[in-house]
Amino acid sequence: MTTTLEPCPNFIAGDWTPTNGGGTPVFNPSTGETIAECPVGSTTDANAAVEAAHAAFPAWMETPPVERARILGRFRVLVEDHFEDIARCNTREHGKTLVESRGDVKRGMEVIEFALGVPSLLMGDVLENIARGIDCEAIRQPLGVCVGITPFNFPAMVPLWMYPIAIACGNTFVLKPSEKVPLTAIKIAKLLEQAGLPKGVLNIVHGGREVVDALLTHPKVKAISFVGSTPIARYIYETGTKHGKRVQANGGAKNYVILMPDADVENSTRGVIEAAFGCAGERCMAGSTAVVVGGAEKTILPTLIEAAKRIKVGPTDRETQPDMGAVITKQHRDRVLELIEVSVKEGAKIPADGRGVKVTEAPNGFYVGATILDHVQTGMTVAKEEIFGPVLNVMHTEDLDQAIELANRSFYGNGAAIFTRSGKAAREFKHRVNCGMVGINIGVPASMAWFPFNGWNDSFFGDLHMQGREGVQFFTQQKVTTSRWFSYGEGDIWHTEAQK
Ligand code: NAD
Repeated sequence: MTTTLEPCPNFIAGDWTPTNGGGTPVFNPSTGETIAECPVGSTTDANAAVEAAHAAFPAWMETPPVERARILGRFRVLVEDHFEDIARCNTREHGKTLVESRGDVKRGMEVIEFALGVPSLLMGDVLENIARGIDCEAIRQPLGVCVGITPFNFPAMVPLWMYPIAIACGNTFVLKPSEKVPLTAIKIAKLLEQAGLPKGVLNIVHGGREVVDALLTHPKVKAISFVGSTPIARYIYETGTKHGKRVQANGGAKNYVILMPDADVENSTRGVIEAAFGCAGERCMAGSTAVVVGGAEKTILPTLIEAAKRIKVGPTDRETQPDMGAVITKQHRDRVLELIEVSVKEGAKIPADGRGVKVTEAPNGFYVGATILDHVQTGMTVAKEEIFGPVLNVMHTEDLDQAIELANRSFYGNGAAIFTRSGKAAREFKHRVNCGMVGINIGVPASMAWFPFNGWNDSFFGDLHMQGREGVQFFTQQKVTTSRWFSYGEGDIWHTEAQK
């Protein structure tokens, strides 16, 4: 039986434009089937989307923030009404479990909730009498056309990190979703259209490098938000800023989880398993390296290995759900397997081995079982490269100082976590670790919508992060007005001049 391909239209100036097909295959990773074809896209498509956003900007900018928030409020309700449908679409094109997809949609909904506060968030500052008879005020105004380029791993949440805040602030937007997962982005955008968003305020253009380059260099684009791997994030930042754009670009990561000997075994095991293997490890906040300190080697590590071996892998596109789904493509699965092979050749032990996992009910899906690589050393390939799969590296140190030193050698700087009962150890770790999001007895410390998603080092290029107040600052520019009023007797000066 052949699967009917889902349509994958662009959304430009309020029209869902059918595309010619023949683009990049979108898979259902659970079964390996092609479910859609994402258009390769062209400079012409990108230019049309930017022109539509540019044309919609003047009227949208003049729309009072309260009215913009009302549309977002209706959007929020519609997303909730279609919650399960969106989560299932997300699972179908990404492969993560339904529970994980629901989390993906929920985290995105929270950004809409944050953006609903835009009338308060945009309030400016005033100082009366900054000098005698002179007042000064700073207000926030939108930038114009903003662009979002998003990765495959959070099809619902990452686009929602960007456009709800951008459009709440009065900008218009062009989204280029990942060609691997375009369907969830389309489904959610249809709800915003249904909520009454004027034509051209949000546009979607599909494609790859040609479309991205056209957006990065277009003179009418004012700002670029990017989430993806570090080499592309760096490229986006360098090219975008060279062309005069404001850029925020989130990159890849390698996050360390420190297991202290005094940590609660059950809670830390659960925390690390969730951090390492949730979403099959395809998370920029995955806890991909556990640093086992001193006696934790004899307490937590054996429990962790047993828990990893129990993780059931399988298809997520049906009612009975496994613990973990497939990875995004066959090509990505092969890369993860190759990295495991290389690490074993380089001397790592493999107490939990997911290489030969068999999923009989879906033999063509892209599966890797939960894998633990023990005694990983800093020079090994898996210690340096982001694996982005269900693989946990384990390293050993004698004390916390050595563990912090290990974590701080990383080029990345998204997140790190510690499991301990000691407030002193936790405080020391929080103070000294070189990254932007810290978890204490929490495995995945991803910031929620009200706080910045706060990568450091090679995990972020730019000045203002996504979400929270920094998100509002990124999507607005301040205007500072200093005013003094004279008395001219009868009438005002302009009127008097005009009558001459
Ligand atoms: P990716 O970098 O391959 O792709 C991201 C986006 O860039 C896609 O829209 C893609 O079409 C586009 N792109 C890819 N190659 C390009 C090129 N040569 N020129 C221009 N555009 C290009 O990333 P991915 O594989 O989709 O996502 C996984 C990566 O994203 C991981 O490295 C992960 O850590 C990272 N990520 C980071 C965060 C964060 O907030 N730091 C969040 C989620 C994912």
